[in-house]
Amino acid sequence: MAIYDAIVIGVGGMGSAALYQMARRGMNVIGLDRYDIPNDMGSSHGISRIIRLTYHENPSYVPLLRRSYELWRQLENTADERLLISTGIVNAGKETSSVFQGSKESCETHNVPYEVMSGPEVNERFPGYQLPEDSVAVYQADGGFLLSERCIVANVNAALELGAEVHGREPAIFWRPTRAGVRVETHRSDYDARKLVIAAGAWSGEMESILKPIAIPERQVLGWFQPSRPELYRPDRFPVFSAEFEEGRYYGYPSYGIPGFKIGKYNHLRQQVSPDSMDRDAHPEDEMVLRGFTRRYMPLAAGPTLALKTCIFTNTPDEHFILDVHPGYPQVSIAAGFSGHGFKFGSVVGEIMADLAQEGDTRHDLSLFRLNRFDAVKSQ
Ligand SMILES: Cc1cc2nc3c(=O)[nH]c(=O)nc-3n(C[C@H](O)[C@H](O)[C@H](O)COP(=O)(O)OP(=O)(O)OC[C@H]3O[C@@H](n4cnc5c(N)ncnc54)[C@H](O)[C@@H]3O)c2cc1C
Repeated sequence: MAIYDAIVIGVGGMGSAALYQMARRGMNVIGLDRYDIPNDMGSSHGISRIIRLTYHENPSYVPLLRRSYELWRQLENTADERLLISTGIVNAGKETSSVFQGSKESCETHNVPYEVMSGPEVNERFPGYQLPEDSVAVYQADGGFLLSERCIVANVNAALELGAEVHGREPAIFWRPTRAGVRVETHRSDYDARKLVIAAGAWSGEMESILKPIAIPERQVLGWFQPSRPELYRPDRFPVFSAEFEEGRYYGYPSYGIPGFKIGKYNHLRQQVSPDSMDRDAHPEDEMVLRGFTRRYMPLAAGPTLALKTCIFTNTPDEHFILDVHPGYPQVSIAAGFSGHGFKFGSVVGEIMADLAQEGDTRHDLSLFRLNRFDAVKSQ
C-alpha cells in the first residue's frame, strides 16, 4: 500500500489550503472529506467571508493577515479567477466599543492606514448606512470579502493539478499512530502516511478527543434581504462592516453572488450544537435577529427576505484559533477552533500546516494559538 507524505482530514476552508500548500512543496498528499467538495454542511459556505486588517480581536493577528492577503492574491493568479473583492470596511460602534477601539489599536500597532469617521460621516459617504449620531467608525480601505466556496475550489483544483488526491464523501472514521506515522480508516480503505493534518472544522472534537472540550460547535444564521435602493448596496458603494451596538456584534456585505444585502450576528442565538443533529432550518426568530438590526442601521436594505442559511462556528474558550502539533504525536498537526473569524486566514493557515507537517515548526508566531493554553480546561 502506498504511503502518503500527508493525509488531510477535512477539505474545507483550512484543509483545502493545507493540501495545496503541501502539494506545492512536492509532497504526496491526500485529502478526505465527509461531504462534497465544497459543501454547505460546515463553516465555509454562504458565498462570502470578510477579510480585514482591522483586527479588534487582537493586533497580533495582523502579520498573519498580511501574509494571508499575499497568498490569496497568489491563489487568484494560479486560478485565474477573482477571489478577493475589495470594498473597504467600516468598523462601527460607540466610541468605547471593542470593535472601534480594537480596530484602531490594531492599525496603530502595525502602521495600517485608517480613517476615523463619525456615524453621520459614514452615512454621507456610504448612504446605505444610517448609523447613529453618536457612533464612530474606523474605515480601512483594504477590507473586503473572499468568495469562500470559490477559494476552496481554487485550492483543490491547484492541489489536484500538482498530483494531490482528493476524496469527497469519504469520512475519516478514526486515525491512529503507526511506526511509519499515522493510519486513517474510512469505509472505503485504510490510508498510511508520515504526517496527518486534522482540519475537520465543527467535527474536530470527533476526530481528536483532546479538542472536544475546547472546539465547540455553535449554530449560526445568515440572512439576505432585498434592498429598496439596490444601487446603494453594490460592492463599489457599500463597504463590508463589523458593527457593535446594543443589539450585539454584527457583520454584513454588499449584494454579491446571490441577490440581496447579506448580514449575520456573531454568536447568533448562542446555541451550542452537535454538527450532526443541528437544526439546519432557519426560523422566524432567526430572521428577526438579523432584520431588527438591518431595519435600524441599514433601513434601505431591510426589504423582503431573499435567503436564510444556517452555518457553524467552532469556538474555543478564548475565541483564538488552535494551530499546533499534537502534544502526544508530533506527526499530527491541528487547525481547529476558528471561532467564527478564521476563513480570511485560510491561505496562511495552509502555509502553517505545510510548515508543521514538513518541518515540525513554522516562522509564523503561533504563541496565541498553542494547545497548552487550555491545559486547565482539558484536565477538568
Ligand atoms: C455564518 C458564518 C460567518 C462567518 N464569517 C466569517 C468572516 O466574515 N470572516 C472570516 O474570516 N471567517 C468567518 N467565519 C468563520 C470561517 O468561515 C471559519 O472559521 C472557517 O470556514 C473554518 O474553516 P474549517 O476548514 O475549519 O471548516 P470547514 O470549512 O467547515 O471544513 C471542515 C471540513 O471537514 C470535513 N470533515 C469533518 N469531519 C470529517 C471527517 N471525519 N472526515 C473527513 N472530513 C471531515 C467537513 O465536511 C468540512 O468540509 C464565519 C463562519 C460562519 C459559520
